[in-house]
Amino acid sequence: MSDQAFYTGLQQNLENLREQGLFKPERVLASRQGAEVVAQDGRTLINMCANNYLGLSGDIETQKAAAAALEKYGYGLSSVRFICGTQTVHKDLERALSSFLGTEDTILYAAAFDANGGVFEPLFDENDAIISDALNHASIIDGVRLCKAARYRYANNDMADLEKQLQAALDAGKRHKIIVTDGVFSMDGTIAQLDKIVALAEKYGALTMVDDSHATGFMGKTGRGTHEHCGVIGKIDIITGTLGKALGGAMGGFTSARKEVIETLRQKSRPYLFSNTLAPMIAGASLSVLERISKSTELRDRLEENTAYFRKEIERIGFTIKPGTHPVVPVMLFDAPLAQKFAARMFELGVLLSGFFYPVVPMGQARVRTQVSAAHTREQLDRVLAAFEQAGRELGIIKNN
Ligand SMILES: *Cc1c(COP(=O)(O)O)cnc(C)c1O
Repeated sequence: MSDQAFYTGLQQNLENLREQGLFKPERVLASRQGAEVVAQDGRTLINMCANNYLGLSGDIETQKAAAAALEKYGYGLSSVRFICGTQTVHKDLERALSSFLGTEDTILYAAAFDANGGVFEPLFDENDAIISDALNHASIIDGVRLCKAARYRYANNDMADLEKQLQAALDAGKRHKIIVTDGVFSMDGTIAQLDKIVALAEKYGALTMVDDSHATGFMGKTGRGTHEHCGVIGKIDIITGTLGKALGGAMGGFTSARKEVIETLRQKSRPYLFSNTLAPMIAGASLSVLERISKSTELRDRLEENTAYFRKEIERIGFTIKPGTHPVVPVMLFDAPLAQKFAARMFELGVLLSGFFYPVVPMGQARVRTQVSAAHTREQLDRVLAAFEQAGRELGIIKNN
């Protein structure tokens, strides 16, 4: 407590963030997660900013499965996995994830952030090359930093640039090359072109890794993920993902791959070796979610219908969106103060969504991002659309027609 300058420096930085409008306040909910949530002030809001794609966060069946696992396996284990923190429910979940994803084996982590943080360093060294999409998630960037492999970056979703970087890694005589991409980029809802990525990997003898956090459970006809959507099941070397979005939304992550990869991670991956096991109730609930979505595609089908409806209607009203099919629907307002004003007005009108502006998205690309859920009813989506129309007219974004 003797270095006062440290604290005044922090206060100054925080003040600067507030002045630049970049300070991120927490929005406190007084209810469970869902299509509708209750704010701290008691108001009910339609939630358009959760990663609750299948509506399984706050869902009663998921909760009951967690309660059953809590009852059977207890609250916690006070151990990492390899000492005395592995229960049958963890092994069952790893098997179920492998079978769902079409892979050989799976290792669980406390978060996808840890899965990505712990995947590169055990598998690659200075002889190797990691070729990473420029917009990859922060946890991939951090994971790559922890590894000694040479780093190559290609422009977002740009296959010509990817090929250039593959050639550069080849020219540099790198031993193993791995192409790394998010399956879906969450700011734009862009789906990675995994078919083309796999073709390039085959041409250059490279491995492929996909972080499918915004896709597992609903992308593709049976919800397996972006690899199913792009027709490349069985052709991706490493898949990482989260249990904290579509698959129930509590927390937890995983890496899924050939068994020699997963066994190596169990021996050497630091977030796995030095961090506590996933709570058994989360493992149990995740297992029930996988069983449920393997039995029926009803939830992902409803999500697909809701997304198509919302995308069509929001454009009909007169808004500009990033084209696509993913339930992340960015509504482009371009101007940062306008995006802020718009999000605030939508909040008053009972809709929770988030505004993004530079430096989170490129300059001049400010937007509000909406995320559609299987839990949204048609009536709720219509209320959201009516609020968009009202706020859009009030702020002069859309004209009377
Ligand atoms: C959300 C997300 C993560 C982090 O997931 P957690 O399980 O919450 O740590 C990692 N990668 C991508 C692409 C994500 O969207």
